[in-house]
Amino acid sequence: MNKKNIDWASLGFQYIQTDKRYVSHFKDGKWDEGALVEDATVCISESAGVLQYSQSCFEGLKAYTTVDGRVVTFRPDLNAQRMYDTAERLLMPPVPQEKFLDALDQMVKANLAYVPPYGSGATLYVRPFLFGSGPVIGVAPAPEYEFRMFCTPVGPYFKGGVRPLKLQVSAFDRAAPKGTGHIKAGLNYAMSLYAGYEAKHKGFDENMFLDAKTRTFVEETGGANFIFITKDNKLVTPKSETILPSITRRSLMYVAEHYLHLEVEQREIPFSEVSEFAEGGLCGTAAVISPIGSITALDGSVIEFPSGMTNIGPITKKLYDTLTGIQMGSIEAPEGWIHTIA
Ligand SMILES: *Cc1c(COP(=O)(O)O)cnc(C)c1O
Repeated sequence: MNKKNIDWASLGFQYIQTDKRYVSHFKDGKWDEGALVEDATVCISESAGVLQYSQSCFEGLKAYTTVDGRVVTFRPDLNAQRMYDTAERLLMPPVPQEKFLDALDQMVKANLAYVPPYGSGATLYVRPFLFGSGPVIGVAPAPEYEFRMFCTPVGPYFKGGVRPLKLQVSAFDRAAPKGTGHIKAGLNYAMSLYAGYEAKHKGFDENMFLDAKTRTFVEETGGANFIFITKDNKLVTPKSETILPSITRRSLMYVAEHYLHLEVEQREIPFSEVSEFAEGGLCGTAAVISPIGSITALDGSVIEFPSGMTNIGPITKKLYDTLTGIQMGSIEAPEGWIHTIA
């Protein structure tokens, strides 16, 4: 396979147009066959449901080159299922799991030249998305939909080493009780941009959102879930109906229990407990785990994690190494986690 002439190590997390993308249309109550196309633009009605009332959702996953030279994806069935659940909540026609997985295989195979080589630290980020393409003017679900999937090579997340993050507790809420916090809808991101801008402007990397109802329990950052390690080496992670069920987090919980033999607790975490933890991290597909250095509370007090502002905590590091080892094929994966494409 001739790879594209790309300096993999210097790639960032930015969109780079690749050769092919997958497109399928939902019309007259059914999905068409779907096909790979070269055109990277979308042409839809000015009155499309996505443009007027934000009827859209997405997924994010990666393709990797393993140590033995295969191209694989990691638990893509869970992305397919999550997008199915999200679509139902937004009254969009769900994409059947087989269709999602077939689109993924086709699209990655058509862009193999963009899959970064093993050891480069870079990966191929895959972006499936679904939106209302047909016209609406009264508030209603769109009559037609488009399901698309493209990919873009992305660089190593920690260029020049790990950098623990500086968080602040946000004064804004992310997700209402019984709202849409548990689904991967574009609207959750549109409304969080302002809070993110405000955090960056004040010198923070990310927001920690608390539960909107009581403002006492830890939720997530709005793009990644939290994991914490207690001083007696338990992995603790928030239980809430308003956070997005991260596949990375679910995988880390399994790895902690079955590979590192740690106790795992998924439960409500009062913010007041955070200062007692030994390590903390954000988890999601993009970075796998980013360690937390400090968290500034609403009253201005600062929680500093014992791992400091230059290091990743020892347990967090083991979790990171084990999960990335499983993804890259150097550590044996649990049954069904690795899907070989080529
Ligand atoms: C995508 C996402 C995550 C991370 O989920 P992964 O499946 O691990 O990538 C966490 N929180 C939110 C709000 C997300 O949209």
